[in-house]
Amino acid sequence: MPKSFPSSLPKRPFQRSIPTSIRQPQPSSRWLHLAPPFLLDRYIPRHHLISSIDAAKKRSEAYAHLRNCNLCPRLCGVNRYEKTGVCLIGAETVKVNTIAPHFGEEPCIQGHNGSGSVFFSGCNLRCVFCQNHDIAHQRNGFDLTPEELAEWYMKLQEVGRVHNINLVTPEHVVPQVALSILHARELGLRLPIIYNTSSFDSLESLKLLDGLVDIYLPDFKVWNTETSRRLLKADNYTETAMESIKAMHAQVGDLCFTADGIAKKGVLVRHLVMPGKEDEGREIVKWLAGNVSLDTMVHIMEQYFPRAHVGKPSRGGIKASKTVKAKVRYGDINRAVNLDEVASVRKAAEEAGLWRFVEAAKHGGFNI
Ligand code: SF4
Repeated sequence: MPKSFPSSLPKRPFQRSIPTSIRQPQPSSRWLHLAPPFLLDRYIPRHHLISSIDAAKKRSEAYAHLRNCNLCPRLCGVNRYEKTGVCLIGAETVKVNTIAPHFGEEPCIQGHNGSGSVFFSGCNLRCVFCQNHDIAHQRNGFDLTPEELAEWYMKLQEVGRVHNINLVTPEHVVPQVALSILHARELGLRLPIIYNTSSFDSLESLKLLDGLVDIYLPDFKVWNTETSRRLLKADNYTETAMESIKAMHAQVGDLCFTADGIAKKGVLVRHLVMPGKEDEGREIVKWLAGNVSLDTMVHIMEQYFPRAHVGKPSRGGIKASKTVKAKVRYGDINRAVNLDEVASVRKAAEEAGLWRFVEAAKHGGFNI
């Protein structure tokens, strides 16, 4: 034993100095968003924590909703066992377009194995620029009962080894989704549930999901009523999104992670910046900072691309149109966004005090 430690310990054989260029990013630049108090030791999905009595109550509430549907602000009030409302989906089954591990989500959601995504067909909004137009507007897909849906969750868990079950555009099928989660927990589902929504939900619907959903992934699309009326075909989108996101945050709080960098619980808000509508984006991020939480995790997205009805020949035909702009529908949003528009929303978010952002990976790979 040496009497005293040498001033500099010799390097072990395998210890080499790492060139600065390939060092990992410093914690201050990369890990702060998942440091305590947003770091969880371990996580048990919420659907495992509700009692069998509460589960039975939820089942009965789910069937009641389907008999008098008020699941979204359309408030159709129809008995979906007999006829359909605006969303055109009945009660016994849901229509699903795709079920698969998905690698197009945020790094903390998709991880290394993918997010177990279920893309539901149909929607309660009618966005003219819908980025999933072929799924949401066309109602392509296959019909599944809640029990069959639960079996697919198990396949995603056992075969896909995904990090979560990600329910995409589920607003109009919440009762069937609730029933499927309750069935899946009996089959042994251990994964957190993600509710990936446009935010056009009713509070009744979110109440039914309380205790079943771990992560809410709401879009906040537009701010002005005139814009929501014209582009989403909904009068009351903004007020609804505000109420819904506040209710989601009250249930699960800010986004939390386990040490592997995978999100397990909380709210992650997405805003897709629209061409020429960055002022609406700025209002949205300011509202989030002032009314939800300064610790809200936010993804300011720049991948808008004209789809669905945008850029199609205007009704009445091109010959009837007198100006170039009128030759196509929704000409004002018939382009990609530019980086200045995205940067101005990000700047407004930072000035309002938000600081937890989903960042693109600088090294081109995963950024977990
Ligand atoms: S979920 Fe469908 S049926 Fe129910 S209120 Fe909304 S649009 Fe109408």
